[in-house]
Amino acid sequence: MSPPNVAQGRDRLRIAIQKSGRLADPARALLASCGLSWRESRDRLFCYGETLPVDLLLVRDDDIPGLIADGVCDLGVVGRNVLQEQGQDRVESGRVPAYREWRALGFGGCRLDIAVPDAWDWQGPQQLGGKRIATSYPALLRQWLQAQGIAADVVLLSGSVEIAPRLGQADAICDLVSSGATLSANQLKPVLTLLQSEAVLAGPVEAFDDVRGELADLLLRRLDGAIRVRKSKLLMFQASRNDLPTLLPLLPDAEAPTVMQVDGADRMALQALCHGAVTWQRLEDLKRAGASGLMVLPVEGMLA
Ligand code: ATP
Ligand code: ZN
Repeated sequence: MSPPNVAQGRDRLRIAIQKSGRLADPARALLASCGLSWRESRDRLFCYGETLPVDLLLVRDDDIPGLIADGVCDLGVVGRNVLQEQGQDRVESGRVPAYREWRALGFGGCRLDIAVPDAWDWQGPQQLGGKRIATSYPALLRQWLQAQGIAADVVLLSGSVEIAPRLGQADAICDLVSSGATLSANQLKPVLTLLQSEAVLAGPVEAFDDVRGELADLLLRRLDGAIRVRKSKLLMFQASRNDLPTLLPLLPDAEAPTVMQVDGADRMALQALCHGAVTWQRLEDLKRAGASGLMVLPVEGMLA
């Protein structure tokens, strides 16, 4: 199945996601957890939405902001780093903003960091003055340098930025970092963070003024529920009424628990939605404070 042309697509919502790479599987899984499903096309670039009129376009992540700007796609799942870089590039070249972040999605976390050779005795940003900094994020780096009042050369590289200092192409780098292992393998150390990034749902600056608006609202409500419950667990246990004052402070991340009387006036059953990690340690602490029959259940969905 090939995508309908842009003019025909207005009664369906089209979402661009990465075809393959770090964000591809989690983006699909998150959308699927919102109740969407698709019929795969043979060319695997376009997936036709079956449960809702929401189709997927599978593309390179770098193309997603442009596809939204051109109206080819309505929404996209992309790293904040890519969205902001291309947004800043538009600003630099005098074009109007054409998209914005609609939601942070809680996966694909990384930082855009400046890293310098291990051997540098780092004193602060002014040390970068007159130096060459290699990056694939020239617009964000230039914006930051300008804000700091630092004059440095921005060396644009499309990949393998971390080996630039060893090759003598640059003195420092500005690149994405998650664990830091790549940096240390290249005798570099992170010294500054320009941007905290994660995958985001990107969309146009203005809301849709046709049927896509309702579809987008529905999707956002489901996404908010899915994001909220992702790390949540339902905790159930029993306790005597007298122990409640000691037990409840052990659930600071829980929504107001439901408390039910089990038998007589003393025995209570509690049900609490916890948004933090429910570890063995926490369960043991609750048990010591009087809880019994502790049960932890996964939460599949939630509509506030
Ligand atoms: P494409 O073929 O789609 O252009 P890519 O190689 O540009 O893929 P990936 O390496 O899959 O992209 O990274 C996609 C996004 O994942 C990044 O833009 C960033 O938001 C996020 N990410 C999370 N951790 C890292 C990391 N350690 N390095 C690079 N990107 C990361
Ligand atoms: Zn890319």
